[in-house]
Amino acid sequence: MKPILFTHDACDAHRMHPGHPERPERRQAILRRLQQEKMLDEWEVREPPLVSREALEHVHDARYLDGVFASSPDEGLFDLDGDTAMSPGTLRAARLASGALEEAVALVTRGEARRVFCAMRPPGHHAESNAAMGFCFFNHVAVGAAAAIETPEIERVAVFDFDVHHGNGTVEMFQDRPQVMVCSSFQHPFYPHRYHDVKRDHIINTPLPAGTGSEDFRRAIERDWTPAIEKHRPQIIFISAGFDAHRDDPLGGMRLDEKDFAWVTRLLVEAAGKHSGGRIISTLEGGYHLDALAGSVDAHLRELGK
Ligand SMILES: [Zn+2]
Repeated sequence: MKPILFTHDACDAHRMHPGHPERPERRQAILRRLQQEKMLDEWEVREPPLVSREALEHVHDARYLDGVFASSPDEGLFDLDGDTAMSPGTLRAARLASGALEEAVALVTRGEARRVFCAMRPPGHHAESNAAMGFCFFNHVAVGAAAAIETPEIERVAVFDFDVHHGNGTVEMFQDRPQVMVCSSFQHPFYPHRYHDVKRDHIINTPLPAGTGSEDFRRAIERDWTPAIEKHRPQIIFISAGFDAHRDDPLGGMRLDEKDFAWVTRLLVEAAGKHSGGRIISTLEGGYHLDALAGSVDAHLRELGK
């Protein structure tokens, strides 16, 4: 069974203000690198469908969704938040990015796929049930996790988020839904300053100081994530795969590199082998230095594809 890579050219029609770091070149740099490294021979590349309204409503309020759909501009940009704007192509890109997660869940629960990576944008993990923020409109990984627990045989899943920014949206959505464990490591104090101090057995927040490097990152992850995995025994593992904790990233202040992303992926692959029948669904979040992003995704997929 080949691993599946969801991507779509329509992602590039999502554009924000000139100079915005969350730009179409990110996906293009990733695909170029995967092509150069012949990774696309090992992954089956597919286009995702648009997400269903029902799947979005598992995590977003209907009124919020109505507002986003109604805000889609015919031309120019419409600002939903200080750093989160809609262009004419944004709504479709965001619906496809959530659709990739909904479809991935359908594939892995039917036994038609074991590993899926969604090379999509805009990202999703900052989007809350009622708010677009931090370059995010719909919370794709949350759409996937919520769809999974709607499946009769799935009782427990987990989201692992190693983006340099806290996965506030995912924590907000699942803080009272213990079927979904959320583990997020993040630079602290740092954007978005929301929901990082939620304390629940199934919400594992791992704040890390600016400047954190490989050794301290790995120690914190082993300390926090390994026992949480053993306790929760997720039946599907989701990854909010942000690569802006890379030392070269212009937004983040941490000092990780490709080897650390390979390491944390390997840890989750081993966990999936033990608990989830190998099922892992990973989706792109941040990562704003094009070379570092492309190399980090390559490193992530080498482990994920095993
Ligand atoms: Zn980020």
